[in-house]
Amino acid sequence: MATTQEETFKKLVAHCKEYGFVFPSSEIYDGLGAVYDYGQNGVELKNNIKRYWWDSMTLLHDNIVGIDAAIFMHPMTWKASGHVDAFNDPLIDNRDSKKRYRADVLIEDQLGKIEEKINKEVEKAAKRFGESFDEAMFRQTNPRVLEHQQHFDALHERYKKAMNDGDLNELKQIILDEEIVCPISGTRNWTDVRQFNLMFQTEMGSTADGAMKIYLRPETAQGIFVNYLNVQKTGRMKIPFGIAQIGKAFRNEIVARQFVFRMREFEQMEMQFFVKPGTEMEWFKHWKEFRLRWHKALGLGDEKYRFHDHEKLAHYANAATDIEFLMPFGFKEVEGIHSRTNFDLSQHAKYSGKKIEYFDPELNESYTPFVIETSIGVDRMFLSVMCAAYKEEHLEGGDTRVVLSLPPVLAPNKVCVMPLVKKDGLPEKAREIVDMLKFDFHTSYDEKDSIGKRYRRQDAIGTPFCVTVDHDTLNDNCVTVRYRDTMAQDRIAIDDLHNLIAKAVNPKELYKKIVGK
Ligand code: ATP
Repeated sequence: MATTQEETFKKLVAHCKEYGFVFPSSEIYDGLGAVYDYGQNGVELKNNIKRYWWDSMTLLHDNIVGIDAAIFMHPMTWKASGHVDAFNDPLIDNRDSKKRYRADVLIEDQLGKIEEKINKEVEKAAKRFGESFDEAMFRQTNPRVLEHQQHFDALHERYKKAMNDGDLNELKQIILDEEIVCPISGTRNWTDVRQFNLMFQTEMGSTADGAMKIYLRPETAQGIFVNYLNVQKTGRMKIPFGIAQIGKAFRNEIVARQFVFRMREFEQMEMQFFVKPGTEMEWFKHWKEFRLRWHKALGLGDEKYRFHDHEKLAHYANAATDIEFLMPFGFKEVEGIHSRTNFDLSQHAKYSGKKIEYFDPELNESYTPFVIETSIGVDRMFLSVMCAAYKEEHLEGGDTRVVLSLPPVLAPNKVCVMPLVKKDGLPEKAREIVDMLKFDFHTSYDEKDSIGKRYRRQDAIGTPFCVTVDHDTLNDNCVTVRYRDTMAQDRIAIDDLHNLIAKAVNPKELYKKIVGK
């Protein structure tokens, strides 16, 4: 029986736990909502993703440098950035189930349902009419489709206006008028809609009087903006230039579901690129294309990516797009690319009273640079890689295997060395090979159980190469290499192992693809 995408996703979550990729946080106390810990394999994969991103920014560009700003920032930062006043989600509770929802998500789900109804009508008709079916004509003329479409358009318009106006009463009225029920209780017993600020707060300082309210940063970007002058001056950076940063961010998400897709503590990789005003659209296009090439170079499947341009722009943006990845639960945002104008630097100049500008020696004038931001969640990237890599394969002879076809560059463990038996000097020879490889690659050693079982364990964590030492090895200095994806085996000289692995796990080939060399 074919497994549904939902079942596959559940299996993937279970797999992540069973093989030391991701654990629920503080699990012995029953976990903490939407907070996760990375295990022994997860942390390696995550570090490899971060390394791939970091080097693609700082190695491939001589005008991009990195920083590592503190998580705690002066509270004025968040006033200036707009987060204190506007980093809100509209929330609504169902009084019967006591469950909390985002009002905007409930309405968007309703819009999705109407779209589904239209698509069902179209599918039915396509089946009925066969070859001669004219879909465009059907959509324009079928009374049932037209009725649904009118409903969709009117609701969409009303919803967009309510969101733009920040009209919470109207959001509630839409939920009531659409007769949207709580998926748990099935009732329409809703509270009013309230704004909920997503920033976590804490206090700094010991005395009640002297304590200062501070926030856990909800994005890493502001750490870059407040350091703009420091980096520009000390690095003698010339526009255009970029500052990259990887770090934790925190958001008190109302609805935290879908595993590491939406977490309350997560990690971001952000790069702010400072440009001359008026050139931002050119750079926006450049970074959109560059970032898509970065994703595609991993070889997870070009068809799994798409751009989604924002209809509603944030108050500071003049263009924005998401790179979406096809997860088992649909196309979802993994990365945002935003043209943020000079909003952030101007705001910080205003609130700090400092002049934050760039003196352009070519123009002989000063200006506040415009910014293109690329912002990607490490955890969402991790999830997309895992979703694409996870496969259940049915083999000849009725056997099955679970394999993670991870890009070798990202795989946590690159090679596992195995003596065929635990005697006759084979373990010692295998250890010698481990010692030879371990300075360059994550190398493991396994002598327990049959070779078949050992292969399966490595398949399950995505190790691209297994190396078996047998009795012949002692005479001919050759080993059997077994490849993860094809399961093919080759006999090769121990001296050639290093080259074979190095070629496969070296990110250089990916970087060349990205820059088009
Ligand atoms: P969403 O609409 O899904 O809440 P967003 O548009 O608010 O995301 P941004 O503020 O643009 O997200 O953040 C940039 C990136 O940070 C996102 O593309 C995503 O990869 C990541 N990210 C944002 N929120 C979370 C979260 N709660 N958990 C994990 N990753 C996140």
